[in-house]
Amino acid sequence: MDITVVVPLYNEEESLKELHAWIKRVMDENGLTYEIIFVNDGSTDNSWKVLQELRSEFPEVHAIRFRRNYGKSPALYCGFERAQGDVVITMDADLQDSPDEIPELRRMILEDGYDLVSGYKMNRKQGDPLSKTIPTKLFNATARKVSGIKNLHDFNCGLKAYRKEVIKNIEVFGEMHRYIPYLAKEAGFNRIGEKMVHHQARKHGKSKFMGWNRFVNGYLDLITLWFLSTFGKKPMHVFGFLGSIMFIIGLIAVMVVGGTKLYCLCKGIPHALVTDSPYFYIALTMMILGTQLFLAGFLGELISRNSQERNKYHVAEEF
Ligand code: UDP
Ligand code: MG
Repeated sequence: MDITVVVPLYNEEESLKELHAWIKRVMDENGLTYEIIFVNDGSTDNSWKVLQELRSEFPEVHAIRFRRNYGKSPALYCGFERAQGDVVITMDADLQDSPDEIPELRRMILEDGYDLVSGYKMNRKQGDPLSKTIPTKLFNATARKVSGIKNLHDFNCGLKAYRKEVIKNIEVFGEMHRYIPYLAKEAGFNRIGEKMVHHQARKHGKSKFMGWNRFVNGYLDLITLWFLSTFGKKPMHVFGFLGSIMFIIGLIAVMVVGGTKLYCLCKGIPHALVTDSPYFYIALTMMILGTQLFLAGFLGELISRNSQERNKYHVAEEF
């Protein structure tokens, strides 16, 4: 099979038939064999009924129905598990992403040798600059910096194409759909490209991701990913290092406090209480924090030793 299209959807009943017809037209015109996996993420409207109707007419339509709303990442994860096409395309259900881009995306994967091609919404049709455009720019700049994928301008674009191997080797979880290129890169797929794609205003329904908290969460997720990819398998290296620094600072402070006290005592010079010295408090906090960080490091090691991931590596080939 040439292509699997994975479509996560949450309350998109009005768009589904049109989206299916559009995908079908593009596939037929290009003579591609394909399947479409709709993942109904706990919709409360008639989306599932529409999908059942589609399925009864078109056998290439598959669908998964979540019992409740889990989010876009879990939906993609389940779609990826079932995908069989050589090239896997993800797109939103809201008709904002254009299926006309599929043949070119596929060509870039198969001929140009990309592992992943991300869409770049050139004529972004979304909301006002304050609540979406500016934070999005900032968000992408940070993501570029942290992930080291310098050529991506639009991490959050729902339209992406993957070589099948990629999606079978990564695990999208939580809200990490924004960082799939980063996950792919961490799994060793570093030929990541970008294609300008057409983007339309939402026709029906409204956006499921609104407000500022998604950016806050987006940043937190980015920090998590960065931490996991850098220290995930060796937590003691970060906690132990920080703990040691703190402990050494504490030790120096103790020596200053103790040394001064001893010196004054021996020389018979009048001296203040140790608790009057700022070094006393520095010593106290630093040594407590240092010990705590060390303990966090040990706990991290214990957890990672017992994790099922501890010996999971991505083997590309073997004889
Ligand atoms: N979506 C989903 N589960 C959710 C939220 C969204 O499957 O909990 C789907 C949604 O139906 C759409 C895609 O994810 O197909 C992108 O959502 P949306 O268009 O609302 O995001 P935006 O384009 O505004 O960033
Ligand atoms: Mg959308």
